Amino acid sequence: LPLTTENLAAIGAEVPVPSYDRSQVTPGIVHLGVGGFHRAHQAMYLDRLMNDGEALDWGIRGIGVLPHDARMKEVMDAQDGLYTLVLKDPDGSREPRVIGSILDFLHAPADPDAAIEAMADPRIRIVSLTVTEGGYNIDAVTGEFVLDEPGVAADLTDGAVPRTSFGLVTEALRRRRDRGVPAFTVMSCDNIQGNGHVARKVFTTFATAKDAELGAWISENVRFPNCMVDRITPGTTDDDRAEVTDRFGIEDAWPVVCEPFVQWVLEDDFGLGRPPYEDAGVQVVDDVEPYELMKLRLLNASHQALCYFGYLAGYRLVHDVAQDPLFATFLLAYMEREGTPTLAPVPGIDLDAYRRELISRFSNGEVRDTVARLCNESSDRIPKWLIPVIKEQIASGGEFFRAAAVVASWARYAEGVDEQGEPIEVSDRIAERLVATAQKNRTDPTAFIADRSLFGDLADDEGFVAEYTATLASLHAKGARATLEDLVAR
Ligand code: NAD
Repeated sequence: LPLTTENLAAIGAEVPVPSYDRSQVTPGIVHLGVGGFHRAHQAMYLDRLMNDGEALDWGIRGIGVLPHDARMKEVMDAQDGLYTLVLKDPDGSREPRVIGSILDFLHAPADPDAAIEAMADPRIRIVSLTVTEGGYNIDAVTGEFVLDEPGVAADLTDGAVPRTSFGLVTEALRRRRDRGVPAFTVMSCDNIQGNGHVARKVFTTFATAKDAELGAWISENVRFPNCMVDRITPGTTDDDRAEVTDRFGIEDAWPVVCEPFVQWVLEDDFGLGRPPYEDAGVQVVDDVEPYELMKLRLLNASHQALCYFGYLAGYRLVHDVAQDPLFATFLLAYMEREGTPTLAPVPGIDLDAYRRELISRFSNGEVRDTVARLCNESSDRIPKWLIPVIKEQIASGGEFFRAAAVVASWARYAEGVDEQGEPIEVSDRIAERLVATAQKNRTDPTAFIADRSLFGDLADDEGFVAEYTATLASLHAKGARATLEDLVAR
């Protein structure tokens, strides 16, 4: 059966569907960047609350900011905002559920004014975002918002029709101010350390450049809570679509599949209230930072620690890498000896158990997360997740050779040719530049790390350079597997 409101009752005989009357749910949240993750995470938590009769005034309206989000618009329109979320247990069992918390979807490029008005609507109290790490337009080294990025620069010109998240959100806030409607809270749910602080910086910087008075108003009136989010959500494949039809009888053009694990640690800082997220299992805390650092430096950095070595060793699926004892040993050693020493105490978390759970989550063969997904957009990830670990370990005199080796594995991967001489498709905003630089690796072994916009002044640190170049040379001479064996034996 096609997934529509009309067919919900029939679908409900096989698969859990919303138990609440969706026509009675009113919007309270606008979300920018309705991808797999938002649909596996915040929208799922709200659906959980709504099934318990709570948060019925916190329905979500989705907004797609990029031209390619037209596809999501088509699907969401055809399916009345409904989609199937399938949790994949490692034992092969599935937990499907039809999620109903997203009420509708707007495509900003097609109708920017409708997107702005959706956010200006006084019923909206939160604008949340999952627009990827790169979506914040921050210079990796200076940490500053890049005002001359072409899209941003265009949005900053007088009378421009907004195209970027910054332009759209700022214009919505301007309209609210002018109409006497209080500001919504801006809640970033992206994988960025201090995501609330970063969101505050980018939105107020943009707004100030556009209109200093508005920037001051936003800075005074908009709350930007920080949060840590976690649930491994790979991109949806055709096999996933086929499985939803074959196993559950639902024709869903864009289901979401993910692991069973889910976590959200959220700072309680909302200007106009929030859904009772804690009733759905969210940890609402005063200080998110220790949890964020734990997640970024253990989970996310480990993803980078496994993806380039794994790809070069011939693996294409994450669980195959994590199930290989050589890799698991390397990852645990990185986490224990390098990642963990940089963390502050994390209240209520047993870090040893957390590290082991990560290896078992990565090993879930049902999720079929791809190594390629983890290699994507590395230039946004390595500088934010791994470089800080290296810098802090250097400063404190701790070990960092494994993290330095991960940087070398990225440099080797970015050469764009694998160990069999086959091309690697490097997918990165700055892929061209990365590949061009990495191709100098053999003649100029520090060319890659000389890029200060990615690595800051690490290339000036002799200890780091020694570790990095040694691993890079070993990758060229012996390949990824033998290099990893040496690293694990140290
Ligand atoms: P996705 O590719 O399914 O969706 C990404 C969404 O972001 C799309 O709607 C896209 O249009 C939008 N987007 C990208 N760049 C943008 C920009 N510059 N401006 C506005 N919108 C932009 O990806 P996803 O799996 O939903 O992941 C999105 C983000 O969620 C990640 O980058 C990460 O920060 C966070 N996250 C993901 C996972 C995961 O396992 N997938 C886990 C934790 C956190």
